[in-house]
Amino acid sequence: MTTIELKPSSSPLSDAERAAILANPGFGRHFTDHMVTIRWTEGRGWHDGQLAPYGPLSLDPATNVLHYAQEIFEGLKAYRRPDGSVASFRPDANARRFQRSAHRIGMPELPVETFIEACDALVRQDEAWVPEHGGEESLYLRPFMIATEVGLGVRPANEYLFVVIASPAGPYFPGGVKPVSIWASEDRVRAVPGGVGDAKTGGNYAASLLAQAEAAAKGCDQVCYLDAVEHKWVEELGGMNLYFVYGNKIVTPTLTGSLLAGITRDSLLQVARDLGYESVEERVSIDQWKTDTENGTLTEVFACGTAAVITPVGTVKSARGEWLHSGGRPGEVTMKLREALLDIQTGKAEDVHGWMHEL
Ligand code: PMP
Repeated sequence: MTTIELKPSSSPLSDAERAAILANPGFGRHFTDHMVTIRWTEGRGWHDGQLAPYGPLSLDPATNVLHYAQEIFEGLKAYRRPDGSVASFRPDANARRFQRSAHRIGMPELPVETFIEACDALVRQDEAWVPEHGGEESLYLRPFMIATEVGLGVRPANEYLFVVIASPAGPYFPGGVKPVSIWASEDRVRAVPGGVGDAKTGGNYAASLLAQAEAAAKGCDQVCYLDAVEHKWVEELGGMNLYFVYGNKIVTPTLTGSLLAGITRDSLLQVARDLGYESVEERVSIDQWKTDTENGTLTEVFACGTAAVITPVGTVKSARGEWLHSGGRPGEVTMKLREALLDIQTGKAEDVHGWMHEL
């Protein structure tokens, strides 16, 4: 495995400065004192792993990533547990997804154990940045990789830089869990069959921003994308997967290749079974969504992802009309699943599936 040389900062933030940030971290606004970088060069492989002070990257203006978007990323969280120790949630699953994203974008695949070791090295060094045990606070880890070869040729690059940075994250809903409103777009698509929808690559997010702005103009928080061929099958939101609650059965859209295989989505298939619900992957159409809401069989809808864990869906707007779930309040099953998963992540419940990775 690539070794990570430790070159810690001689001027980290003081305890008081860090405490001021941790008192109200928000999301993705503040970064810890360090970062981990590992280089990859054709013919040499992974090398020059190091943990060094957090700071700007210096890139030649002709660096590949700046022109052709050869970039992939991940998002995962480390939590403080009741005994004060720190553990991250399913980093092996993120590492494997990172490999699949790399493969799809023509990048080298970072070994799973190197990905985990890079995350661990950063969390170990900046452990004081992991918020105290209590609520939903965590240290959000953002591993990413860019093509660093200089030149304007369009082809897989021969040099890459893998980086991990970390950002303390407060509770996603500081004022209590609040349903999001959704614009189900029938004209904008996020991903196409044979495309890169199942890769966590920056271009997917760039392509979603106009639709996101259009949703905001319609008074909605998030966009729900439908499939790009028939424009009827529900795929996912711009940064979260979806679940449909039919009484004791929860349904999430099948992984077709054009939606991201969320780790929260995967975990909830299991957590739901643990709680005695039936959980399945099926195709769900926008018409079925509307009809089943109106006939009362579809009782709740929620979105899920690392950042918010579970977010209830309230209002849905689409060209087919507008409807509301659970009277605009978080649904009962939604909140039960949310609590069950968060309890595992924060160490309040037993980790029966071996999902928590201790430092
Ligand atoms: N879909 C998209 C497009 C996302 O960006 C994310 C966030 N990674 C998710 C779903 C949820 O994935 P996860 O549960 O792994 O965070």
